[in-house]
Amino acid sequence: MTEKVLLVEDDPMIGEAVCGALAEAQIEAQWAKSGWEAMGFLAEESFALVLLDLGLPGRDGMSVLRDMRAKGNMTPVIILTARDGLEDRLAGLDAGADDYVLKPFHMSEVLARMRAVLRRRGSGAEHDAASAKMLSNGELTLDCETKTVTVRRDGLSKEVALSRREYDLLEALLTRPGAILSRSALEDRVYVDGELPESNAIEFIIHGLRKKLGSSAIGNVRGLGWMVQRAKS
Ligand code: CA
Repeated sequence: MTEKVLLVEDDPMIGEAVCGALAEAQIEAQWAKSGWEAMGFLAEESFALVLLDLGLPGRDGMSVLRDMRAKGNMTPVIILTARDGLEDRLAGLDAGADDYVLKPFHMSEVLARMRAVLRRRGSGAEHDAASAKMLSNGELTLDCETKTVTVRRDGLSKEVALSRREYDLLEALLTRPGAILSRSALEDRVYVDGELPESNAIEFIIHGLRKKLGSSAIGNVRGLGWMVQRAKS
């Protein structure tokens, strides 16, 4: 990892522990202790990855994340949160986070997730260079280069940006329209070796995709898995 990591954390003990562990792993880090400070660093330089606490004084982590994505900053974000409510997690993923770690965490888990997120981004880039391609079932068209999906429905067309996991999952489904992909098949596509998805992680991602693309975009076949419709000819 050559670029710096931005840590956004107001708790001095957690911040020092994370910075220490990053230094030990030879990862350069910048530590922002508030949302406003984070926004300042993000405006000035680019980072390999952002570790983002949600509960921050002044401007909270969710609003930092939304602001980043609204400005087109697609730097991978891993949320560090003590809030384990379903709604907060969904909101984080909806807002474009790549992953989250629940506090209290072991630094080894944070490092493993950082590696996974960066590996996913790296392999995605190689894949794109090899085959800049479009996947479509008529209604949804996925641009594998820009990672955006265009939804055409009722004569209207809109472009939607996806989080990394949403993209990986939709790419898996759109590679084989009409085929039912099981939970474990989707987990294999979305999670890399060594990552252990939570039991309903795929549902979280599907929920986010349906919210962005319309509830009919992804069909559920009870007990078997999920699919996108084949193109109507
Ligand atoms: Ca905090």
